[in-house]
Amino acid sequence: MNYIDLRSDTVTKPTPEMREAMAGAEVGDDVYGDDPTVNILQEKAAEMLGKEDALFVPSGTMGNLLALLVHCQRGDEVIVGDKSHIYINEAGGMSALGGIHPRPVMNQADGTLLLDDILASIQTEDVHHTITRLICLENTQNVCGGVVLPVEYVQAVGRIARENNLFLHIDGARIFNAAAALNVSVKDLVEPADSVMFCLSKGLAAPVGSILAGTKKFIKRARHLRKMLGGGMRQAGVLAAAGLISLEKMTGRLGQDHARAKSLFEGLKQVRGLKLDACPSSNMVYFDLLDEIKLSVDQIIEEMKKHGILVDWAGPRRFRLVTHYWVDDAGVEAALKAFTDVLM
Ligand SMILES: *Cc1c(COP(=O)(O)O)cnc(C)c1O
Repeated sequence: MNYIDLRSDTVTKPTPEMREAMAGAEVGDDVYGDDPTVNILQEKAAEMLGKEDALFVPSGTMGNLLALLVHCQRGDEVIVGDKSHIYINEAGGMSALGGIHPRPVMNQADGTLLLDDILASIQTEDVHHTITRLICLENTQNVCGGVVLPVEYVQAVGRIARENNLFLHIDGARIFNAAAALNVSVKDLVEPADSVMFCLSKGLAAPVGSILAGTKKFIKRARHLRKMLGGGMRQAGVLAAAGLISLEKMTGRLGQDHARAKSLFEGLKQVRGLKLDACPSSNMVYFDLLDEIKLSVDQIIEEMKKHGILVDWAGPRRFRLVTHYWVDDAGVEAALKAFTDVLM
């Protein structure tokens, strides 16, 4: 069965063009630095982000961890959102592997951390205190609804970082979605950041891989630590070839996914028993089940599957639907019809 898969944008399989490029990719041993396709991908990514250098890494989680490990020493403290992927969905890697101490700050409904909260969380010099080293932002902010942090906000946090001698890292797993939603270049959006991670493997439809970008010195150290973590890949050009198509062909089409998320949102408003979050600003639609719905999330997932639609829960009574390259207008219609039938 050909399912319409709304569980995540990570489910995106490579496009036919990607498969062709992967089959024909020129490769070398990337641990020696001589895989030409990886090198082109890294150069192109660095250029698009406006950073000196970039590194191809196996996953977004590894990219974020590398950034934390390069910026921080053991015992240093990192200001992170309490709903951020780094804080809640990376298996505690910063503390387990880096001895780094997270300092969670509440994510507001719009995904931001209040500037006053950030300022109040910066440790003063005192024999009792940790040393605050880094601020992390997430854009788009996944758990807050795929919401987009605007340019001015990122700049304001960048100023706080500079004035307090802190680094700024952006977990930009979906930074190209954020830039598309804001209609700005990614470069302008991440300008204040010392380092940025983004995923090729999500809405950009590549099968595997993420990019970490920063200064030459930062990337040199990150490359060393990537090897330490076992992330030095060999003929990785096979993967980078797909990533190049992500950058060239996929970044420009994300607006379509956002428009379809809005269509889903509008359609779901007509379905009984749902309490929708605010209108989506990127490719995610979140909603809760009202008490009148007697089915459990697991039952709904089962029933939707019988209708050819894959969905995933985001809480005991909560769902998240994600649009992506492999969901077209007919897919949106089919999903709406299935929800209407299942929740009738
Ligand atoms: C997916 C994701 C990551 C991690 O990426 P993986 O490739 O799954 O390790 C990091 N941050 C955010 C916001 C994500 O959505």
